[in-house]
Amino acid sequence: MKLLKFGGTSLANAKKFLCVADIIEKNKNHEQVAIVLSAPAKITNYLVNIIENNININQALEQIELSEKICIEIIKNIKKIQSNFLYEETKKIIKTEFNQLQNIIYNFASLKKYPENIQAIIMSRGEILSIEIMKNILISRFHQVTIINPVENIISKGSFLNSKVDINASKKCISKINIKNDNIILMAGFIAGNNKGELVILGRNGSDYSAAILACCLNSKLCEIWTDVDGVFTADPRKIFNTFLLKSISYEEAMELSYFGAKVLHPRTIEPLKDFNIPCIIKNTSNIKSKGTLICQKNNSNENMLKSVTNIDDIAMFIVSGDLIKQNNNLISKILDILKKENINIILITQSSSKNNFNFCILEKDTKRTMILLNQLYELELKEKLLNNINIIRNLSILSIIGFNIFQKSNLTSKIFSSLGKSKINVLAISQGSSKYSISVVIKKKNILQSMQTIHDELFYNKTIINVFLIGIGGVGKSLINQILKQKKFLENKNIEIKIRTIANSKKILFLNNCIDLKHWEKYFKESKEKFNLEILNKSLKNNCFLNSVVIDCTSDENLSKQYVNFISKGLHVIASNKKANTSSLEYYNKIRNTALKENKKFLYETNVGAGLPVIQTLQNLFHTGDNLICFKGILSGSLSFIFGKLEENILLSDATKQAKDLGFTEPNPCDDLSGIDVARKLLILAREVGYEIELKDIEIEPILPEHFKKYHNTEEFLYKLKEMDAIFIERVKKAKNSGKVLRFVGTIEKGGKCSVKIEEINSNNPLYKVKNGENALTFYTNYYQPIPLVLRGYGAGNNVTASGVFSDLLRIIL
Ligand code: ASP
Ligand code: MG
Repeated sequence: MKLLKFGGTSLANAKKFLCVADIIEKNKNHEQVAIVLSAPAKITNYLVNIIENNININQALEQIELSEKICIEIIKNIKKIQSNFLYEETKKIIKTEFNQLQNIIYNFASLKKYPENIQAIIMSRGEILSIEIMKNILISRFHQVTIINPVENIISKGSFLNSKVDINASKKCISKINIKNDNIILMAGFIAGNNKGELVILGRNGSDYSAAILACCLNSKLCEIWTDVDGVFTADPRKIFNTFLLKSISYEEAMELSYFGAKVLHPRTIEPLKDFNIPCIIKNTSNIKSKGTLICQKNNSNENMLKSVTNIDDIAMFIVSGDLIKQNNNLISKILDILKKENINIILITQSSSKNNFNFCILEKDTKRTMILLNQLYELELKEKLLNNINIIRNLSILSIIGFNIFQKSNLTSKIFSSLGKSKINVLAISQGSSKYSISVVIKKKNILQSMQTIHDELFYNKTIINVFLIGIGGVGKSLINQILKQKKFLENKNIEIKIRTIANSKKILFLNNCIDLKHWEKYFKESKEKFNLEILNKSLKNNCFLNSVVIDCTSDENLSKQYVNFISKGLHVIASNKKANTSSLEYYNKIRNTALKENKKFLYETNVGAGLPVIQTLQNLFHTGDNLICFKGILSGSLSFIFGKLEENILLSDATKQAKDLGFTEPNPCDDLSGIDVARKLLILAREVGYEIELKDIEIEPILPEHFKKYHNTEEFLYKLKEMDAIFIERVKKAKNSGKVLRFVGTIEKGGKCSVKIEEINSNNPLYKVKNGENALTFYTNYYQPIPLVLRGYGAGNNVTASGVFSDLLRIIL
């Protein structure tokens, strides 16, 4: 005998009902099966609306109509697929049920609240109808069916709405039913009966519990819970990234999991299964192939002790303090008793070691009642100041880590606290749980997702993850994504995973999740309708601030560069190919560095000078180890390197410039290159890097062109006017050549920090003599490197080299 239980989402429409019938049939081929069903998806919610929200008659009738519509739609479509389905009979039953419900509503309309026995009847209609529908599907497939009436056979005690089953009594009843061997057994979940034979229910989602009970009563060898998830995960996969399915867990772990908020099973389900030692397996009707999670008795000796991270939200913490706590040993147990009597569930308790402070957590919805109870109980003591005023902290969450003997796992607590600490999340209380199966921390609700993700990654995911928020997807940004994709295997071998969370340009932003394959990002980006602005960006950064989060700025946007301090303060690293931040005021320049130091975050910008050439890091290495710059000279512009190289081949300035533009070496308007300002910016960054506190305006720029060229904003016009300069440059090149020299556009930092950019005549001994064709070259004369300077030379522009520089900055975040 095997028991199969199907939840509401597995019965959401006709197709699903039929799919469930298929599963039942397949199992029946091997052994007898007993089936427990929930209500079709959504129906219980509609029925609950009738009774919970104090709604008027018309609204209540509306909810009934909605429920009826769902049921009729289901059987109509079943009939379409399975033509011999007993449609008319089923329809009649559905109609009768809902008519009766309507009558109930008319009868009780005058009351403010429905009596609890009536509430139970209303809420349980969905289950009754699921059974009717399934019965008729199975009959039309020529099966024999035995229906177990839960009101008569599942005997329970307690309230009408949250009853607890007496298994032995139920077992007795069920053993009296004559069930033929080849019959399929069907029973409505969620429903039971009290000793007066009245209908009661087992609490929301109680049909899991029904299934466990029936499995015990029928001596099933297995209880299968069919639902809409693959099983139990290391954390809720709908909220947390990188989770994985657990193959198996013990009964105790499963109980602890549902106690601490995992939504896979009704909390009472496991206990009976454990008592009768019936294994339980969680399966997914939408993914039949998945093996599911097995819950059974076992020793966990050779398994990972840690199983899952869970949360309960909407928690309030009561802080009871005062001398009385030390003096009166009974105080705590008295509080626990009185709350228990009032059905208020205390989820977690902590007491300070000094013993004059006692905290407990409850669901926020119970706060008011609890406060009233405590104030009544200790009215006098509060007045006499034996107890201080009771404090309540609201908007909290409990995060729990579940596993067998988890305290034996060395480092666990330190890992939890260090990962929360790194994300700057405060812990308000900790509890190691009286069982050996959990450790819980109380934190602010607004931090719960980030904390779960951080702790989950730290404990379950043995890879270092870098979370990237990429802004700017021009040539460099695109190349960067391609390089990351290309290096996936390499990174995997190094246990590194780069997760791109967001991709944006100046117009749009795309949020990536588990479902988006980075390979197809361009398609998703095109489809994205989310507009980009700084507000949206900041909001998304705030919500997604994982450990090792990095903003990469591949734009040249000044406004964005002004956000770096803000990003770093939020806990993100910043990598910029954008030069604007480092060339802004010295004040902002220093502020970024101070913030990064304070927040222990990195600000990296290797590509600001010489693109991928290792300029910044090399300089930092030298100066951190005590070297000093004597003098610097360099060719810092790819386009000007190209143009000046061409001049010595007797090509005219205007032609050389046009060629450079056509090859993609220049800015959109080459006027910007020839103005020398970009070279000045790079020089400023270098000068500041070696310790000179200067501003952009301190750099002397000797322009290549006369002042009036600035007014040609139109590229064509600019290139045309440039011809005016050709003759002058022929002259200058010739003059230089006559003394064995060439013209180069050179940036210079002299001792003392004086900086200039200008055309220079360079002789053949100078390392810059041979630099052309778009190459950059940087010569550093330092204390360590002289008289022969340190020379860095290579392409200083281009998408691939720049992206590779950004990529290596990215890896420096964690290395
Ligand atoms: N239909 C009931 C509910 O939604 C019971 C169940 O689905 O387990 O709470
Ligand atoms: Mg560089």
